[in-house]
Amino acid sequence: MERTLIILKPSALQRRLIGEILTRFERKGFIICGMKMMRLDEKILDDHYSHLTDKPFYPRIKKSMMSSPVVVCCVQGVNAIPVVHAMAGVTNGRSAAPGTIRGDFSLSVQENVIHTSDSAKTAKEEIGRFFSPEEIFEYDIATLHYLYADDEVALE
Ligand code: ADP
Repeated sequence: MERTLIILKPSALQRRLIGEILTRFERKGFIICGMKMMRLDEKILDDHYSHLTDKPFYPRIKKSMMSSPVVVCCVQGVNAIPVVHAMAGVTNGRSAAPGTIRGDFSLSVQENVIHTSDSAKTAKEEIGRFFSPEEIFEYDIATLHYLYADDEVALE
């Protein structure tokens, strides 16, 4: 099954939305296989946002992402990468569709409460950037047969 990375940004912590947002992923059926609170530093942010470091607004993003701790989660499920990304919604909270996390909880491009990996390549890189191998847990899911048909789980 696919694994993907979620970051609950300082805007989610400060607005006390951690439980509400994680509940959405749990209810959808995703398995949480890693979760921790951490403070991001300049080095990890420069790696994570390497596609944005030359943008004029990058210093602002960095300041915002270091303004309080974040919660990072690794979640697992069939097609987890595109499904989790779609649940987050588009970057700008004002344009994000109602029903998505950004669409329901953000009115901002910058303060958009959540990050999710956008491809298989970035998911692998991002999980490795934020978690060490021993922080990712494999365990039996007693309810697996109520989440998927056997052939769906066998797809990945
Ligand atoms: P996404 O998070 O949707 O994958 P990007 O990778 O383009 O989007 O941008 C990373 C993050 O940088 C966004 O989630 C947002 O917090 C911030 N950001 C992007 N564009 C802007 C902008 N024009 N002004 C301020 N912040 C921005």
